[in-house]
Amino acid sequence: MIPSPLDPVALAQGVRSGQRRAVARAITLIESTRPDHRTLAEALLHELLPYTGGAARIGITGVPGAGKSTFIESFGLHVLAQGKRPAVLAVDPSSPRTGGSILGDKTRMEDLSRDPRAFIRPSPSGCTLGGVARRTREAMLVCEAAGFDVIVVETVGVGQSETAVADMVDMFLLVLVPGGGDELQGIKKGIVELADAVIVNKADGDLATAAARAARDYANALHLLAAPASGWQVPVLTCSALTRCGIDAVWETVQRHRDTLGASGALTARRAEQARAWMWNEVSETLLQSLREDQRIAALLPEMERTVAAGQLAPGAAARALVARFRGTI
Ligand code: GDP
Repeated sequence: MIPSPLDPVALAQGVRSGQRRAVARAITLIESTRPDHRTLAEALLHELLPYTGGAARIGITGVPGAGKSTFIESFGLHVLAQGKRPAVLAVDPSSPRTGGSILGDKTRMEDLSRDPRAFIRPSPSGCTLGGVARRTREAMLVCEAAGFDVIVVETVGVGQSETAVADMVDMFLLVLVPGGGDELQGIKKGIVELADAVIVNKADGDLATAAARAARDYANALHLLAAPASGWQVPVLTCSALTRCGIDAVWETVQRHRDTLGASGALTARRAEQARAWMWNEVSETLLQSLREDQRIAALLPEMERTVAAGQLAPGAAARALVARFRGTI
């Protein structure tokens, strides 16, 4: 709930002192689409910005059922055991079919969500990917200002949200499951190329042998991909999110990745590039939104769209005409 009137400076203080209620409220403010809330959210972020940047930002993807939420729970509990505080954010553009959130179910990460030192936030529903990505980036900044050390951003590995998440984190983990060894073919090559580490989950019981074999196959397949410019060689690990075996090795890999990229300056460069790209995304989104909200443009749109659809006007020419008209109005 957003209290009214809201004082962004006071809310920022609440966030900085690590109050979970203040963090939740700040994220609710960020998720609001009301223009007055947006202004307050920007004031809040301005207050918080000097205190951001301190967390390890980790993205996680994998097909539904790969064990992501089980993994995040085990990983989050391991992070807590190291004396560090995890926050979990989800990027889950609402499915147009159900209108609901795939990741929103309350029974996920039960132990982690009960721990007062951890923070879990499901994805805002009813948004476009662009909207969700913007809010998740901002929610990440709020969590950092609140003192969380590790921020896990989870995405369902079924669409374009992986790129959006890879563009906001320091390290991107791909969670796979053991099988016939040909799974890499089922996962879009583009997503594999985003991965900084591949984790073969469910390496337990009857699946343990298959997991080890799958890990070898993946490692071989990954060698075929060029090493990224940072010099980091993408490792393939096995673990069981269920028995929590191998989770410590994932945590060590996360730390090794930070040390390697930190020492070479690649981490700073990656974040700087992400910030620049984010700014341009904001420019596009803001311009597009103002254009769509402009009443004179809105009056022209149906006819423009009709003539373009009918092939009477080239889309490029129509776009330039709309933008020229819009520039005349601002
Ligand atoms: P998500 O859809 O990727 O978030 O997957 P979930 O975490 O919900 O897990 C899907 C199913 O796989 C559940 O039934 C889990 O209990 C199971 N699962 C998750 N991790 C493991 C694991 O390490 N070993 C085994 N055997 N099952 C697992």
